[in-house]
Amino acid sequence: MFDIVFKNARVLDGTGAPWFVADVSVKDGAVVKVGQAHGEAKTVIDATGKYLSPGFIDAHSHSDLPLVHNPTADSKVMQGVTTEVIGQCGSSGAPRQLGLYAQDREESEDDEADMPPWTDMASYLKLLEDQGVSVNVVPLVGHGTVRRQVMGVENRAPDKNELNLMKRLVDDAMEQGAFGMSTGLIYVPGRYSKTDEVIELAKVVAKHRGYYFTHLRNEGARLLEALKEAIDIGFHADLPVQVSHFKVMGEPNWGMVEHSIAMVEKARKDGLDITADQYPYIASSTGLGSPVPVSAWRGGKGSELLNDPTERQKILDALRARANWDKIVVASLENEDDQAFIGKSIAEVGNIQGISPEEAAFGLLQRNRGVVSIVNFAMSEDDVRMVMLKPWVMVGSDGRAYNAKTAKGQPHPRSYGTFVRILGRYVREYGLLRLEEAVRKMTSLPAWRLGLQDRGILREGMRADLVLFDADTVIDNATFTAPHQYPTGIEWVLVNGVVVVKEGVHTGARPGAVLRHKR
Ligand SMILES: [Zn+2]
Repeated sequence: MFDIVFKNARVLDGTGAPWFVADVSVKDGAVVKVGQAHGEAKTVIDATGKYLSPGFIDAHSHSDLPLVHNPTADSKVMQGVTTEVIGQCGSSGAPRQLGLYAQDREESEDDEADMPPWTDMASYLKLLEDQGVSVNVVPLVGHGTVRRQVMGVENRAPDKNELNLMKRLVDDAMEQGAFGMSTGLIYVPGRYSKTDEVIELAKVVAKHRGYYFTHLRNEGARLLEALKEAIDIGFHADLPVQVSHFKVMGEPNWGMVEHSIAMVEKARKDGLDITADQYPYIASSTGLGSPVPVSAWRGGKGSELLNDPTERQKILDALRARANWDKIVVASLENEDDQAFIGKSIAEVGNIQGISPEEAAFGLLQRNRGVVSIVNFAMSEDDVRMVMLKPWVMVGSDGRAYNAKTAKGQPHPRSYGTFVRILGRYVREYGLLRLEEAVRKMTSLPAWRLGLQDRGILREGMRADLVLFDADTVIDNATFTAPHQYPTGIEWVLVNGVVVVKEGVHTGARPGAVLRHKR
């Protein structure tokens, strides 16, 4: 007796091959038959006219803490995501073992951050496992997290002991199941590291046959030298490289992706296994205060900005680096009196208040103790499409798991919409990608990137992570002004053979597996 049979589905096997019609039978967490189903099943789903594909793998997720607090991972599961690759952009849930977490909290823009009941990667993963999660989890260890454990937020190179300690923490995390290391070379404290430090740590990752994921040091005017650094790290440490959210920001730089694409393709020709992920939006999301140095806050971030004339001038200069104020829109902030500014650009806020945009930004940060999220419409649609067409580019939301019922604020809609947006808009509406190719970027490509042998392809013997969707109606509903909206058209989602989404509704099941890297 089968557990579940999808009758008469259009099967997208995840390899990019054309779809074919078949029944797909699931038993004990695995796909046991692709072809006509004989015998009985506990659940039979009429899939006529619908597409059945491997579950989507979110190659770039920031759900490390959300999975602890919101293990049903609603915003991801509801768009067909069955596996999340967490620990990105230099920041991971673990390790937290050296008692420096208070400092983390000070630095964190995450209001859910709290003293965690875990220390190293092993205990963090065990906690997820014990609680149960709705998605499979693929962990990376964050370079910034490790550096912070050892050096706090000091802006200097590590001494020999500190470097050795960082290496040990990376080695432990890899030993305990991390698939690789990520860097966020634009953020504190990752930005304080030089290339040779990252190479030394990447060599430890390479020893475990792991992967190097990187948020480049620069995604604007200096994109190409930042990409060169990533390529150098890959060659010197001898390990595969994944460039996170591949893009260029800032109107003067639009079109530069032609050159960054050429650099990646040259590096591939030279023998480096380098790939990338991408989210399908022309806006990024970050904190308004991210260019402001930590030293500008009286008692650390989340306190008050220093306000004497010299300090104030320094902060305004740092903020001026953003420049494109008409493209930067306030997404969320806490101060009651500022709520009316949500959805307005910083330039508009300045106009309303009769001050410069930098002054307006300063005021917002001051009144909201630094907690102001923004979306930055700094990318070009042409660039997004050029990148999406590359066969080595996979899909990664750069978002995190939310529950639309309880979530607050106005985060980037990518957390709810990334995968369905590609299917509904870039495949169906724009005709940019074949459906099969889009699904490949969400399934077998990331599975291969991470060495997942039993996922990402719909075939007998593979784990039953499956998505049934309606290609005629699938669409993202999350917008920049109303992000907490689940999509349309994702009908059934199975994780390890268990139904997590049934007829478009989350069942609450938590059958996700915490995956551990094997050498
Ligand atoms: Zn990033």
